[in-house]
Amino acid sequence: MKQRKSSERAKKKKLAIKESLDWDGSVYWMNKDTDQQDGPFCPSCHDDRGKLIRVHRWIVQGWDPSWRCMTCESNFPIVHS
Ligand SMILES: [Zn+2]
Repeated sequence: MKQRKSSERAKKKKLAIKESLDWDGSVYWMNKDTDQQDGPFCPSCHDDRGKLIRVHRWIVQGWDPSWRCMTCESNFPIVHS
């Protein structure tokens, strides 16, 4: 009985995380209870493996700045920051 309850709670928590993710056309942002946003997160890692991997601002001279995922080594355009 106890175990069943906790697995239901875990399911709900997972769903809540999914629902609070916002895709800006390039990367995912997580909406928090407050007005703050967390992230951004790599869309490839999330869609492929269900993992939230933070991307970093990637700046190379001569190139437009972009978001860089160190895990899957992908770059994504910066739509908003
Ligand atoms: Zn990635």
